[in-house]
Amino acid sequence: MTTEAQQFASDNYAGICPEAWAAMEAANQGHAPAYGDDHWTHTAADAFRTLFETDCEVFFAFNGTAANSLALAALCQSYHSVICSAAAHVETDECGAPEFFSNGSKLLVAQSQDGKLTPEAVRAVATSRSDIHFPKPRVVTITQPTETGQVYTIDEVKALSAVCRELGLKLHMDGARFAHACASLNCDPAEITWRAGVDVLCFGGTKNGMAVGEAVLFFDRALAQDFDYRCKQAGQLASKMRFLAAPWVGMLENGAWLRNAAHANGCARQLAEQIAELPGIELMFPVEANGVFVRASDAVLAELRMRGWRFYTFIGGGARFMFAWDADPARVDQLAADIRAASTATALAA
Ligand SMILES: *Cc1c(COP(=O)(O)O)cnc(C)c1O
Repeated sequence: MTTEAQQFASDNYAGICPEAWAAMEAANQGHAPAYGDDHWTHTAADAFRTLFETDCEVFFAFNGTAANSLALAALCQSYHSVICSAAAHVETDECGAPEFFSNGSKLLVAQSQDGKLTPEAVRAVATSRSDIHFPKPRVVTITQPTETGQVYTIDEVKALSAVCRELGLKLHMDGARFAHACASLNCDPAEITWRAGVDVLCFGGTKNGMAVGEAVLFFDRALAQDFDYRCKQAGQLASKMRFLAAPWVGMLENGAWLRNAAHANGCARQLAEQIAELPGIELMFPVEANGVFVRASDAVLAELRMRGWRFYTFIGGGARFMFAWDADPARVDQLAADIRAASTATALAA
């Protein structure tokens, strides 16, 4: 067996962290009741209630697209609409699943400088029309951190939820990298969610070191009515639920979720600090989570590929580097050195 050198093209390139793996193994003892009626599922749900210091409703889905889509569908009737940033994963990367699972609730896209929604943008979209011919705004969804690694502060979330309450809108948070936001803000999960006015959170496990799985947390329990049926109908009710739930127990019980995210964020900062001042290299966004977006000439990007680095350029043409729970700091240094070499070589050639 050969293992490839570590790449930072996606945080989903990483494997499973030891804590999640050990919990899976522990769950693999004998038989247990199916469909979530087992000890592991109850323990995982309770671990979320403890972590968030509130009696929320907790569900487990296989992936983020399903978690987001079903959560939004639960908040909407088909004639409702969902306000999101133009850069939001629900808009750009879920193949219309939110509209599909909600039977047609329309996403209303707000333009924003950095992918973050503002109270002003929400208000502008939500009040642009109020006639019967336009789908009625019902939900605002924000990504924490955003797709390009910007983190909403507690005050920013509170300002958004205040507008939501005023306009009769629910607030959903896509937290595919929620752990990274908590690590970045150094705040309790409760502070950035329900205490700041978030109604529903999709908490990502996959990008935090699990094999698979996202948790959907309803802080307003009434909104979770029949959500179990919705999950089942959508093919998201795991029959052997203990294996979807157990890794969460491993992640939450000793803080692996936060350590993993803090490490990933640290590796992003490590790269950013080494390349920020290089000629011909520009950081496209402030580095606040586990991603670094690098604007460079085609020649520099080609040189990096020549040197064996893999990365995506689907956001604004720059190179995206994402760091996972197991990112190797020595490999991060190698990447920084190669970016330095590529930028110097092309600067000399020019
Ligand atoms: C990765 C990601 C998701 C979930 O994607 P799946 O591939 O469906 O698990 C959702 N939102 C954001 C912002 C993501 O980065």
